[in-house]
Amino acid sequence: LLVAEAVVKQFGANTVLRGVDLALGSGESTCIIGPSGSGKTTLLRCMALLEAPSDGRILMDGMTVAQAEPSSSVRASAKKVRPEIGMVFQQFNLWPHMTVLQNIIEAPMRVRGLGRDEAIAIAEALLEKVGLAAKRDSYPARLSGGQQQRVAIARALAMQPKILLFDEPTSALDPELRREVLQVMRTLALEGMTMLVVTHEMGFARRVASRVVFMDEGVIVEQGNPSLFFENPTTERARRFLTHFE
Ligand code: ATP
Repeated sequence: LLVAEAVVKQFGANTVLRGVDLALGSGESTCIIGPSGSGKTTLLRCMALLEAPSDGRILMDGMTVAQAEPSSSVRASAKKVRPEIGMVFQQFNLWPHMTVLQNIIEAPMRVRGLGRDEAIAIAEALLEKVGLAAKRDSYPARLSGGQQQRVAIARALAMQPKILLFDEPTSALDPELRREVLQVMRTLALEGMTMLVVTHEMGFARRVASRVVFMDEGVIVEQGNPSLFFENPTTERARRFLTHFE
């Protein structure tokens, strides 16, 4: 579905990604783990088309949608697929001056061209799904962080994306609020949503992901089945990383 091919990313003299290949199949949930500064968020942002690769490319459904110096046809493809790639950020990024419902219906109406009634019906069903039907007319500031993040997930889902990318979705939350967000993500994964999740939640990666990708210093060092990876990492770097979580 979504593929990174030999992706390199530099910020000035700092090379953050050093040639990363990653292919996300439909219905897979992939967790990216690794030490701070290893390039996890940068890879996710490249795949979300929020950051342009310095070299290599991103493909969606076989079409090139990002590369260094994109041609006009690559730009046109990017514009077309962008609404199909949903994103959930660490800091929720809800619009503070809009109610929960308005936050969710805005993009479907504006970008997808849905009518208001239809957008509201979808939003209400999604709020039900994330357990926040009662909060539809509240403003974000009145919600807990965990509730705000669940609204952000509903907002991303309202665009009916083919894939959902999460950038450390629970890192800004107190431990007791993390669980409610992880529970919603787990349900989505079980329903077959295609997901890519940058996370420090090893329990989630182990129990929910269909694949774990371990990054260090701008490359994928190791990847595979979560239970095999956590029980028996093949590289010394992964083994050392995992000892921090024991
Ligand atoms: P963490 O777990 O701490 O979030 P990470 O693995 O997600 O780390 P990245 O956020 O991808 O790592 O950052 C990797 C490196 O890229 C860091 O050295 C960071 O300073 C640098 N970097 C990221 N974004 C930018 C930017 N916009 N401009 C300059 N440097 C950046």
